[in-house]
Amino acid sequence: MNLILFGPPGSGKGTQAKLLVEKRGMTQLSTGDMLRAAIAAGTELGRKVEPIMKSGGLVSDEIVIALIEERMASISAGGAIFDGFPRTLAQAEALDAMLNRHGTPIDKVVELQVSDGELLARVTKRFEQEGRPDDNPESFKVRLAAYRAQTAPLLPYYREQGKLSGVDGMGTVAQVAADIEQALQAVPA
Ligand code: AMP
Repeated sequence: MNLILFGPPGSGKGTQAKLLVEKRGMTQLSTGDMLRAAIAAGTELGRKVEPIMKSGGLVSDEIVIALIEERMASISAGGAIFDGFPRTLAQAEALDAMLNRHGTPIDKVVELQVSDGELLARVTKRFEQEGRPDDNPESFKVRLAAYRAQTAPLLPYYREQGKLSGVDGMGTVAQVAADIEQALQAVPA
């Protein structure tokens, strides 16, 4: 099963992806984590993307598509959870092309729905606890605007394919996990 966890920054994609890795033996592919690892390692890519990420903008499609392509072979038999990818229509189309080549298309897209007020509260708390540079309030505003302008317009793309399920992301981690599980149960084997 290949799943896209979709939703704005702070909606709980990373948290829920980790639970699905444990529960279903799936492989989490988070472009945000890959980019942060490149920054931490001080690679050329890391140096290139650091200022863009810090400001809250999106890095180029070319960069993130290449990162996902490199990891395709690492996807376990349980399938992949795409977390924070795709974020643009070009990325969505590139992902479909890659997965179709493997004969394992996207089965489900789960949109985590969280109000803007709750997102701001969560990201502010994470900023205080973890100090992630792009969780500061100014960068968060840019990230949310990028989500609304460039990423949310992908929802109709997946809705038209009958793959989209909305899940209320405002509940507890366990409640949201249960609702995601229910959406996944509906996927034909
Ligand atoms: P995330 O951890 O998914 O919130 O991503 C953190 C930041 O990494 C984003 O604000 C972007 O700057 C960059 N990023 C991560 N994934 C993507 C993507 N698929 N396309 C463009 N930029 C991305």
